Amino acid sequence: MNFTFNFPTRLISGEGCLTANADLLALGRHALIVTGRSSAKRSGVLDDLLPLLDAAGIAYTVFDRITENPPILTCHAGGQIGHEVGADFVIGIGGGSPLDAAKAIAAFAANPAIAPEEIYDAEKRAVPSLPIIAIPTTAGTGSEANPYSILTLPDGLRKKTFTAPESWPRYSFLDPRYTASLPVAATVSCALDAFAHAIESYLSAKSTVVSEQMALWTAGQIWPILAARPTEYTPAMRESLLYAATAAGIAISITGTGFPHPLGYSLTLLDGVPHGRACAVFDGDYIICNARTERGAARLAEFARAAGTDLDTLARELPALSEVDFRFTEAQIAERVELIAGAKNYANSPYVLSKDEIYAIYRAHFAK
Ligand code: NAP
Ligand code: FE
Repeated sequence: MNFTFNFPTRLISGEGCLTANADLLALGRHALIVTGRSSAKRSGVLDDLLPLLDAAGIAYTVFDRITENPPILTCHAGGQIGHEVGADFVIGIGGGSPLDAAKAIAAFAANPAIAPEEIYDAEKRAVPSLPIIAIPTTAGTGSEANPYSILTLPDGLRKKTFTAPESWPRYSFLDPRYTASLPVAATVSCALDAFAHAIESYLSAKSTVVSEQMALWTAGQIWPILAARPTEYTPAMRESLLYAATAAGIAISITGTGFPHPLGYSLTLLDGVPHGRACAVFDGDYIICNARTERGAARLAEFARAAGTDLDTLARELPALSEVDFRFTEAQIAERVELIAGAKNYANSPYVLSKDEIYAIYRAHFAK
């Protein structure tokens, strides 16, 4: 029952929470706003935020070059700009890509002389990152509630997680209205990501009473919505998904993720499959493998009960919801498996996959 729980982020939720708490924006005198091409505008965040910054006399520079699966090189460039304009804090707006990028940019802006991959070296990254505010516009990654920043390395083929003690957002504003413009297909993908976080966290040996409660609550919030396959999302559904995704983000801040995550990375980077769907492809394998272990079987049964369903349904429906259907040659399978074979996440599930089993799983899904 013993646990430690470090949660330095203040979460502020509800419709209008940004405007109602505008005084919290004064983390500095010049904000670097980090976002994607259009999500900050389409979600309505910029319309709310910029007048508040103007009224508070806070200068800002918008860096809107973040693409999906943020490249470390773009983050490095963003950090240089943050340094040049004299930004003293960062506001990340968007899905997991801009929020993760904001954490890296906050580190590069404070350490403008380091090379891109030196961000992973705490000694080179000597100056603490600039403070960060996160405003999510998707309900999925939970980046607003953890210190992880998942960056695509310069080869474009691999992802590597950056984290620093200051990478936790100081404040995260959770307004479900900002997720309303997210199209249905992307909403499903993000919900699948949050659900994967919950189940992978719940089975991890690192789970604590805090992460467990977050994971089980997430399961009960998300599954009924995913299972109903709505063609439109009501404000109440958007609210449930956003807060559940944040809860699952807290859960993985304690435990990390399990093997559907690395298995999915190849499909995302080589085949363009959105992150949540790429994980969901392998959720059935995750359930079947872990059910062979004593801990896995017991935990999975509790998790399915909390979701309001049974394990067979989850093992069947999660991969079906991914809607991923590729056929690969043996060489393409080998290329994908070799890219992800070394990930640390494999050790974070009751059932630890061997490389041969990773090949077998890929062949079972994708062999021609
Ligand atoms: P995303 O890559 O941030 O965004 C996907 C797409 O949705 C983009 O085209 C984006 O537009 C658009 N979008 C975002 N919000 C919108 C809105 N409200 N209305 C309309 N369009 C909107 O998607 P994501 O699934 O949230 O994030 C995935 C990334 O997070 C991956 O890089 C993954 O590795 C990472 N991740 C991080 C964690 C963590 O713990 N930190 C956990 C899981 C995954 P724009 O291009 O304009 O932004
Ligand atoms: Fe994820």
